[in-house]
Amino acid sequence: MLKIEHITKSYKMGENVVNALQDVSLEISDGDYIAIMGPSGSGKSTLMHILGLLDVPSNGSYKLNGREVSHLTEDELAVLRRETIGFIFQQFNLLPRMSALENVKLPLLYSKKEGGADYANNLLDRTGIGKRSFHKPNELSGGQQQRVAIARSLINKPLLIFADEPTGNLDSVSEKEILAILKELNDQGITIVIVTHEEEVGLQARRLIRMRDGAIQSDERLAPLPFKTSEVRANLQNKSANIFTEIFEYLNLGFKTLAANKVRTGLSMLGILIGVAAVIAMLAIGRGAQKQIEAQLSSLGSNLLVLRSGAVRVGGVSQESGATTRLSIDDGQYIKDQIDSVKYFSANVNGRGQVAFQNKNWSTQIIGGSANYARIHDLMPQTGRFFTEADNLKRSRIVLVGMTVVREIFGNQNPLGEMIKINKVNFQVVGILPEKGANSFRDQDDVVIIPVLTAMHRLLGKEYVDSIDLEITDPTKMEAAEDKIKSLMNTRHRVAPAQREGAFEIRNMADIQAAVQQSSNTMSVLLSSIAAISLVVGGIGIMNIMLVSVTERTREIGLRKSIGAKRWDILAQFLAESVVVSAVGGISGIILGWLVVVAIGSLSGWTTSISISSVVLAFFFSASIGIIFGIYPARKASLLNPIDALRHE
Ligand code: ADP
Ligand code: MG
Repeated sequence: MLKIEHITKSYKMGENVVNALQDVSLEISDGDYIAIMGPSGSGKSTLMHILGLLDVPSNGSYKLNGREVSHLTEDELAVLRRETIGFIFQQFNLLPRMSALENVKLPLLYSKKEGGADYANNLLDRTGIGKRSFHKPNELSGGQQQRVAIARSLINKPLLIFADEPTGNLDSVSEKEILAILKELNDQGITIVIVTHEEEVGLQARRLIRMRDGAIQSDERLAPLPFKTSEVRANLQNKSANIFTEIFEYLNLGFKTLAANKVRTGLSMLGILIGVAAVIAMLAIGRGAQKQIEAQLSSLGSNLLVLRSGAVRVGGVSQESGATTRLSIDDGQYIKDQIDSVKYFSANVNGRGQVAFQNKNWSTQIIGGSANYARIHDLMPQTGRFFTEADNLKRSRIVLVGMTVVREIFGNQNPLGEMIKINKVNFQVVGILPEKGANSFRDQDDVVIIPVLTAMHRLLGKEYVDSIDLEITDPTKMEAAEDKIKSLMNTRHRVAPAQREGAFEIRNMADIQAAVQQSSNTMSVLLSSIAAISLVVGGIGIMNIMLVSVTERTREIGLRKSIGAKRWDILAQFLAESVVVSAVGGISGIILGWLVVVAIGSLSGWTTSISISSVVLAFFFSASIGIIFGIYPARKASLLNPIDALRHE
């Protein structure tokens, strides 16, 4: 079955070369039971590791069932190993957090065989652990643990079993029981190679090989080979390999491992948790503020152009707006008639004044506007009415009052129909303006609005209007309208070509909105980069913990490899753990962030708005942090040499 020829194995220890095996040749037949004995350091374990495909020789040939295997890669060896070989170690090497049954089933994770659960129970029964199959290794005696390890070595129905001093850590009663089990397995046809120190253990075998200084010293047959070796062949069904079930299994494994170490897991996800919570909260508050500003801006009117006369340059010196560029109500009418895209206009004057009702006084802003002012600025009163063009032409003394003014001079009285004085002139209140709230510049409700002609001729004594509001039908036509208005006005007011630059100013609400948008975008980028930094810090925390975990679990990695895990399996296992940590941290962060947002919203009264996209983004970002920062430790684990890992203390 197995034949090695002229095998050598040497280790470099700094300057020296240790020849652990020197020119060893050996043939092992099916069904044999071989004991290898010799003083410590004579190369027994090294030989067994090479025979067991855990290690490759420096030189020489190794044929397993006729196939040359001395030059296979680590992954190819892993596959061959789990299909043909079982290992039993002196230190048992059971995984401490798993029950006996789970330990026995562990190799199935890598060999992807189905129907293992019944067989595992069956094996535990046969090795006498049946009743204790749900106990963890630390609840079992040494002899019991070794029986579990034997059951584990049998789960993939190996042709060969290698046992390195399996009774070295056991009392004599347990030793006898273990040897009886091995004998029985050999009687069933499994080939056994056992390394031992003890003469009586060696004498139980069919063939005894003694080693010294890396070479075979003697080789004697104690009992004949069995006459007929029974066929032992793996007859378990291959599970259909599916990448999703595989990923699910590793994630599940990750959860279990992490759950077993709650404090550490919790601490390692803290960075991600805080980072994600900060992202969620910052974005929600930022978005809320932005929405509020947008709402305020749109209340100013988004299709609105405001025309004012600008400074006229005469002889290179800029002067106050000259007589030529002063605006009149007729200018507004003219523009509306000439340009199709102008829907409404309102010619406005502004001023400040003292309003009085009974014994109350209040200084406020006075706006004189056309009848369309309400439409343009979305100020249709819910109580009372706005004034009409007829009121304007009659120069009626009627007024609409803002809520701040109402509160200041009327208190709880109903203002509708009451007479108030504005700069000592009597006005009748015909409507109350809808409440707009305060923006960052001023209180928009601290205002009274009267017809523009009344304002010009009866109150403020102005000949010209201060500005003309123009509502454009469509935001896309704003720019064209702007240019056209300027040229119309320049012609109409006969502004000399040299002075046209800046003769009329047009303010565009869309521009202001864009500016606000830009600044809030800058803010978001700023907040997001702070959040990204905190997530990266969280990721580094995870990497740190994972590296510690890899070092701590080196023996576990070696064991997993010895029972058939490929590099990818180990990589996937550790990657799954870091992804689970960061994803769970991410989800907890989302929940925490949401709670913070709700708390801030209700305590401060700020507008907040959590977007689904920020939640999804935060989750995937944190999961990718897990992958990115988990790769290095996971790769480090997967590249460990199985022998070095197993020998790790
Ligand atoms: P045994 O199992 O018979 O006690 P080993 O096979 O473990 O002996 O070791 C044989 C020799 O090889 C010893 O001298 C040991 O120090 C050396 N050796 C084993 N593994 C390594 C290693 N990874 N690096 C360096 N030397 C090693
Ligand atoms: Mg040894």
